[in-house]
Amino acid sequence: MKHSSIIDRTGSTLGVMDDLQIAVHSYDGCARGCPGCIVDKHFKNHARFEPILKGDDLQLINRRVLEYSDWVQKTLNYKEGGYFGRNGYQVQHHSYTFRFGNHAELPVDELIALGGMLHTDYRVFSVAPPTNEEIEKFATMKSILGGSVFLEIIYDPFADSPEAIRDAVLAMRENGLNGYPELLLTKRLIRDYPAERFLDECVSIFGDIGAQIQFGRYSPSRTRNFNKTQMATVDEEAEWLAVLAKGIVARGHDIHPIPLGEYAVTLLDEYREIEAVGEDGYVDPARLREPDPFLVKSVREKTRDIFLTSLYIDHNLDVFVWSESMGQHVLDSNFGYPPLGNLRQNSIIDMATENGGALDRMLNEVIRELLTNRKCAPCRYKSFCASHAVPLFRRFHKDDGEHCYGYLPVIREYQRDLSFLNNMVEGFRELGF
Ligand code: SF4
Repeated sequence: MKHSSIIDRTGSTLGVMDDLQIAVHSYDGCARGCPGCIVDKHFKNHARFEPILKGDDLQLINRRVLEYSDWVQKTLNYKEGGYFGRNGYQVQHHSYTFRFGNHAELPVDELIALGGMLHTDYRVFSVAPPTNEEIEKFATMKSILGGSVFLEIIYDPFADSPEAIRDAVLAMRENGLNGYPELLLTKRLIRDYPAERFLDECVSIFGDIGAQIQFGRYSPSRTRNFNKTQMATVDEEAEWLAVLAKGIVARGHDIHPIPLGEYAVTLLDEYREIEAVGEDGYVDPARLREPDPFLVKSVREKTRDIFLTSLYIDHNLDVFVWSESMGQHVLDSNFGYPPLGNLRQNSIIDMATENGGALDRMLNEVIRELLTNRKCAPCRYKSFCASHAVPLFRRFHKDDGEHCYGYLPVIREYQRDLSFLNNMVEGFRELGF
């Protein structure tokens, strides 16, 4: 394992936020029944083949988001401190992520209408493994609307053929689309697929095509009666993922496992952990430099910036924060979180600038909890975990075992091989998003 050079992320978006990400609750129809599914049962069964969001609502979303995007670029990008600002990162564009059902089953005219009403150069759609005919629908939409199109393929190893998903990813590329599998870490997956078997049967097949693979944590939701049957403990997830990470790196797979491969780069690079890598390739905690002091004001401002650029709009036009920790989670009322406001009453700028509003209360909770939690209080990674909203997830899913939401045993495995990580950096550079 070599760490002779640093990681050069110039021109790559790996571990870098440069996008105002707007997720919308556009469609929940789906014919499948994956373990740990989070789509709303009502919409899943009663709104098939037509989008949940239509006409006037889409127009209002489009108008509010364009106005907000303009404000973000003129305000956040020119602040003195924070994640975005004169001396920090810059918000370059805005994107829409269309969630949660199988958008591939929508008629092509509906897809074009849905995508076309929301103006952007980047559109991401959740889909079940698509057929060639379904891929053609997205290619048609792209030829009319322009911009980049990404398909997040919800991959259920109990029902889906990995060969078919690999073929679909390659077919998408031939059609000018980008696609990648996304897996939910359910109790059933971890129980029935030991990590080595999962690597052999479900991951290695993607090992030569430069595919992103996203892993997401299952969270209990109201539409599923807060059922915890499929919720794995953080210890189960961390230990399973660590074995998987070790195998992916050992096999030299051309795979981009996110988010933890991404976090491995961020900690090596921005947190200078590269200086503490030992002969065996592992970061040696004893060699880590003194952590930066936890400056509440500055961490709060950085976290605010990240929350302000990851938003979710539901079918009632309520606006929520959308957080990326282990997977992308909407922090909406379905998961027990309050809205920042409603687009019919307020602009997003109002929600972002309201003193003492829902956003401020979330930020207060994040900082307070990190400072008082028995694991986090003495930990050097508090600022990192603040931006991933870790304390908010603890309300419903505790990490009170051996490991925590930092998933460090997994990150340490990915950090062992710099060429693997640089390959990920390059993959994101080529993707341009
Ligand atoms: S969740 Fe874990 S890594 Fe993050 S601050 Fe808390 S103890 Fe540290």
